[in-house]
Amino acid sequence: MKGLVMKSTGSWYQVRTEDGTLYRCRLRGKIKLKDLKVSNPVAVGDKVEFDLEDAGENTGTIHHIAERENYIIRKSTHKTAHSHIIAANIDRAFLVVTLVSPRTSFGFIDRFLITAEAYDIPVTIIYNKSDLYDAETAQYQQQVLRMYEQINYPGVICSTVSGQGIPEIKDLLAGQKILFSGHSGVGKSTLINHLAPGLELKTTEISDYSDKGKHTTTYAEMFEISPETFIIDTPGIKELGLVDIEKEELGYFFPEIRERLNQCKYYNCLHINEPGCAVLQDLKAGKISLTRYESYRGIIAETDNRR
Ligand code: GDP
Ligand code: ZN
Repeated sequence: MKGLVMKSTGSWYQVRTEDGTLYRCRLRGKIKLKDLKVSNPVAVGDKVEFDLEDAGENTGTIHHIAERENYIIRKSTHKTAHSHIIAANIDRAFLVVTLVSPRTSFGFIDRFLITAEAYDIPVTIIYNKSDLYDAETAQYQQQVLRMYEQINYPGVICSTVSGQGIPEIKDLLAGQKILFSGHSGVGKSTLINHLAPGLELKTTEISDYSDKGKHTTTYAEMFEISPETFIIDTPGIKELGLVDIEKEELGYFFPEIRERLNQCKYYNCLHINEPGCAVLQDLKAGKISLTRYESYRGIIAETDNRR
């Protein structure tokens, strides 16, 4: 039987077949992912094949995991512990942010975007709480929206209070598997409840025994909100955790830098103070946003400090 993993706890998996039936599955012992040390070899969004164990109880054993189009991993903070796959086969991520109470920093947004670039997941930015804007903030919002749209991160301005943007978000969701992410307090849960009324967002905490510290990890869960439309919620996961990127590679994960890489005089240009740097030139000319460039410089500085 074939199905889609809706929930992964590391020891058992909820699998949904095409007709909507849910099965509680275990993993056949032999399946191990080749080069990944992970605490959950099967993740939300995985397409799997399983054998029925007990038809009355709807239980099964997974014996095959289809190759993933993409996946997001969270590295464990413990050096020895395994990483955790948050979700697989994601069509797009919705990053929920706010310009007001509590304002999401550009640093946070840009880090998320870099991670999504590294995982090859397109991102739409959802700017929530527009009902709280004064005239000045509304104008500023337009600038921020344009800044990110110019580098291929479309945005939707919305409010769960006034309803602005909600129909547009519903249209964007249709037929897709969307990962919802965002800092706590931005209104992510409220928004998901608006998009899928009746959906009871419950978060279950499960001990992650792969870590020595036995800390709790909250697992992602996928919900079908309309036919073939799935929301992946990542409760408790604030940041995706920057993948290990060498500073020489960082420019590849900024679309506006990536497209200028072969215009710089030096092939190994870090775009800091090199002569003939196309990025610095366009920064001066106002074609590259200063806040984005500051995020880039900030991360370069961090990698320098790590050494
Ligand atoms: P989460 O931590 O991102 O899941 O945020 P919640 O959904 O729990 O929302 C955090 C707070 O923001 C709650 O007090 C919500 O009522 C409030 N909130 C959510 N959306 C909006 C919005 O569009 N406008 C305003 N003014 N408040 C909102
Ligand atoms: Zn350069």
